[in-house]
Amino acid sequence: MSKLKKRFLRSGKVKDIYDAGKEKLLFVYTDRLSSHDVMLADKIPHKGQVLCRLSSYCFANCENHGIETHMIEEIDSNKMLVKKLFLIPIEVIGRNYLYGSYWKRYQRKEVQLPKGTDPVLAAKLTEPLVEFTTKFEKKDKPLTEQDIISREWLGTNEIAQIKKITLALNELMLEDAERAGFILADFKLEFGIDEEGKIILADEAETPDTCRFWDASKYQPNKVQESFDKQIVRDYLEKVKGWDKNQPTPGTKLTEPILPKEIIQKTSQRYIQAYERLTRRKF
Ligand code: C5P
Repeated sequence: MSKLKKRFLRSGKVKDIYDAGKEKLLFVYTDRLSSHDVMLADKIPHKGQVLCRLSSYCFANCENHGIETHMIEEIDSNKMLVKKLFLIPIEVIGRNYLYGSYWKRYQRKEVQLPKGTDPVLAAKLTEPLVEFTTKFEKKDKPLTEQDIISREWLGTNEIAQIKKITLALNELMLEDAERAGFILADFKLEFGIDEEGKIILADEAETPDTCRFWDASKYQPNKVQESFDKQIVRDYLEKVKGWDKNQPTPGTKLTEPILPKEIIQKTSQRYIQAYERLTRRKF
């Protein structure tokens, strides 16, 4: 690892990305955490390792089922070497439940539900859905297939392929979630295109940062659900610090830690539990 020649490229919310030579990138998963769209200064021990190891588990499962991914090798518990791709500038959202921004758009009458779906918060959709949003705008905006085609980002066949892969991966993740006692409400994927024009699954997958996992034993429709990973932090910030959705302003980066030790420890445990329950492996 120390011999790997790498040059820093950029930092995302959670990952630091390095150029690792010919056609390769190095992803370093950090312990950074955001809540209410605010970057906290506190770190959650082992979070980066959980995200890296879960993605690696998911990508290996994908490859076994004929879904190509950008993973070359997990080279450390929080570091992954991946193929450099042309990143498609969209986020692909898979949904099994009526929640999040989809629920909000439904209330504003902007979307129709799959036929037969109960129109209540957190209802199970009668069939899974695939949606698209922008990736590089400040706030993710919904995109129709026609938007993507007219911007010349993808053609009809490529969109169809992405939808097919997303639904196939949904099935794989649903199997893991069900066995783990989780409900997979929805998730986000990103894709790239390689030199030969092939569509390849990129970024990370099956992680608590990109999926809404709910505890199946606590699920009740028509209610706000606990997200398995960050609920402890969210509750603390709302109850003790009085945060709500617009305070502090989304996008803020805090410079001082604000979480007590036990909240950090409990959150770290939650991430580890998610890993162990989904993969049936010891962390
Ligand atoms: O907020 P919304 O309901 O659109 O989110 C759908 C899913 O996509 C959620 O599982 C959320 O965690 C994930 N997501 C993400 N990154 C984003 C936007 C959404 O991982 N930028």
